[in-house]
Amino acid sequence: MSSSKNGVHILIFPFPAQGHILPLLDLTHQLLLHGFKITILVTPKNVPIFDPLISTHPSVETLVFPFPGHPSLPAGVENVKDVGNSGNAPIIAGLSKLSGPILEWFKAQSNPPVAIVYDFFLGWTLDLAQQVGVPGIVFYGVGALLVSILVDLWKNMWAYKGLGFVEFNGLPKSPRFVREHLPSVFLKFKEDDPTWEIVRNGFIANGRSFGSIFNTFEALDSEYLGFLKKEMGHERVYSIGPINLVGGPGRTGKFDDGANEKIFSWLNECPNESVLYVAFGSQKLLTKAQMEALTIGLEKSGVRFILVAKQLTAQQEEQGFGSVPKGFEERVLGKGLVIKGWAPQVEILGHRAVNGFLSHCGWNSVLEAIVAGVLILGWPMEADQFINTWLLVDNMKASVRVCEGSDSVPDPIELGRKINEAMSNDLFKERAKKMRDEALEAVKIGGGSKNDLDSIVKELGQLRS
Ligand code: UDP
Repeated sequence: MSSSKNGVHILIFPFPAQGHILPLLDLTHQLLLHGFKITILVTPKNVPIFDPLISTHPSVETLVFPFPGHPSLPAGVENVKDVGNSGNAPIIAGLSKLSGPILEWFKAQSNPPVAIVYDFFLGWTLDLAQQVGVPGIVFYGVGALLVSILVDLWKNMWAYKGLGFVEFNGLPKSPRFVREHLPSVFLKFKEDDPTWEIVRNGFIANGRSFGSIFNTFEALDSEYLGFLKKEMGHERVYSIGPINLVGGPGRTGKFDDGANEKIFSWLNECPNESVLYVAFGSQKLLTKAQMEALTIGLEKSGVRFILVAKQLTAQQEEQGFGSVPKGFEERVLGKGLVIKGWAPQVEILGHRAVNGFLSHCGWNSVLEAIVAGVLILGWPMEADQFINTWLLVDNMKASVRVCEGSDSVPDPIELGRKINEAMSNDLFKERAKKMRDEALEAVKIGGGSKNDLDSIVKELGQLRS
């Protein structure tokens, strides 16, 4: 790797949620490999997340400001994982109070950053970038269809008010969704609430940024990348995904404990492409009724499976969330394996025995499945998951939807049938492999994502203070 951009100083401003941070860390790692000087803006409790990056690149500096807080957040909360998705808006608004201190910090630097690369939830940063006279570049750890929809929604929100479903006629293929399936960050918007005004203004400001970087790739999202280029009126709309393919130090996990040995020795005994991996991301818990229907459905499907079931606290059990029913693990012994707690997802998906992934379709899970060439069986629940599922199922015809909704309880017999059919469908297998090949091509020399990453490096490298 070249170090030709030595000294060109970039400020990275991540949003404190796992799904947002990891892909931005991967991009940061790439910039460091190209010799940029990097400062990461962070609040105290989130500093340890950056340890793996800093130990690989000791030159990285952190700019640590105390989290300004927000009246609706419990004291000490600085990361979405501590409060769930309801924490997004107050954390965005809380962080926006850092604008003044950041401005002061810029003024005091002898070699200040020449650009700010910030998460798309922190759109208020553009104002700040303009005040200090540097380009503000938005990083979207998500796909271009989702962002196209968000652009349309924030722009036309009054026209869509009260509609039971929304059809996005200005977008390629006119995707349409029932209201409840629109992105949660839009559905939760509260009129005349100053916190939500900051969120909305931030999203609108993103459209005026100097450039935008997406964790997606052309073959998956080209129509919507094209739409956004037109919408933004310039070509600085880059797709560099799947960025997890080029990887970074933030992604190394500890996957060598006893539990993981059990998983991989179990998988090693399974025939090629015979196992369904079932997991719903880092946050979602299933209710008792959902867990019961899912486990019966898995049993009825006749398919080998790994089910990730989070460990519940007593309080979560009281709230109605469910663990796997008693006796289930014994009944499915040999056919199914239950992981209680955190699963080494990327490694499992990459195992030759795994063929399908029953997923909530969080964007990271989607990209990880694509990279592994594994068929996605979608059960979208909230956030951007319905949009991601539309892209895969309705637009690409490369996945199936087996259930939908955060509170829905599938009919177990029907679920079992759908799983069985999907897992034995050769056409889907072929499409999954084709998408994997396209993703691999995108990040190779000459591929669209590699070219875009090179363009970003070149564009940033030309900036001088
Ligand atoms: N993940 C994992 N093990 C688990 C649960 C989640 O490794 O037991 C990882 C998964 O590989 C992915 C991320 O956590 O990288 C989840 O991100 P996604 O966007 O799919 O869903 P979210 O957690 O944001 O709902």
